[in-house]
Amino acid sequence: MTPVPIHPIAAPWGRFHLYSFLIDASELALVDTGVTASAAGVPAELEKLGRRIEDVRWILLTHGHIDHVGGAAALWEATGRRAQVVISAADAPFLRSRQAHVDEFQSLRGDYITDPDAAAKKAAEADAAISGEFEPTLVVHGGEVLELGGGVRVRVDAIPGHTAGAVAYIVEGQNDVFVGDAAQCYGAASGFPGYEDPAAYRASLEHLLALEPRHLYLGHPYRRADGTPFPVELDAADAREALQGSLDNEARIRAVALPYLARGLQHTASVYSPFAAIADALGYTGDPTLEPAPFFTTMHGYLTTAHPQEQQ
Ligand SMILES: [Zn+2]
Repeated sequence: MTPVPIHPIAAPWGRFHLYSFLIDASELALVDTGVTASAAGVPAELEKLGRRIEDVRWILLTHGHIDHVGGAAALWEATGRRAQVVISAADAPFLRSRQAHVDEFQSLRGDYITDPDAAAKKAAEADAAISGEFEPTLVVHGGEVLELGGGVRVRVDAIPGHTAGAVAYIVEGQNDVFVGDAAQCYGAASGFPGYEDPAAYRASLEHLLALEPRHLYLGHPYRRADGTPFPVELDAADAREALQGSLDNEARIRAVALPYLARGLQHTASVYSPFAAIADALGYTGDPTLEPAPFFTTMHGYLTTAHPQEQQ
């Protein structure tokens, strides 16, 4: 069978570069949806490819972050509500509720970002960036296979870590793998990788590496070790580099963070407080407060999930 074509769809948003993807099967599938503003441009992008939003039958969400699910309600309406909207059970609350994004901000980063208006800003961002709250039509856990017609089958693999409910979509037979933000490499715009659960993140990267993807599709232009961005569509060699680089960077951060965290939090006047010594030792000089604030999310992950035996 000839491989089903896959087309990236750029979705700019502020300082971010987001990507959705079209799986050009007989039942068209969109992977991720950007935010309200970027989703408005998707129908025109599909027209350039000779396709119509009305014919999209699948909206496949890799995880619940605002820049991946924000456009989903608008695009689902544009399909005449005929598309199946797929998200994992663990991340489905982010599709159902804007407030879930504010709650997530407060639980993961609220202790470290001292701006008293931060939660209100997050709520305003959720209002603008999320086109609607709704119930997914298909909730997955990993292990499902979706039939896109014409023999095209897409497998769902659970790859938690970046978020609890992150999933990969794998086009069977051609081994093209969509991972959203599950391979953070050396960070994107913020210059730091973001993951809620470091051990799960690692296990998911090892799972993806073992798949040996023919192509790997990332939600943002994550950076290589030398700071240059990967392309939108990674070939097999770039896929290996991105996945191994993500593992290497996690190991580097863990080796620095765990011994510091074992000695207790150091509250200082630094914008990196209470993790200033870790930022310093890692040479991280980015603004840690800019949302989605991966530095704090990741530090919180080590703080709350790392076990003493991991430090040996
Ligand atoms: Zn994300």
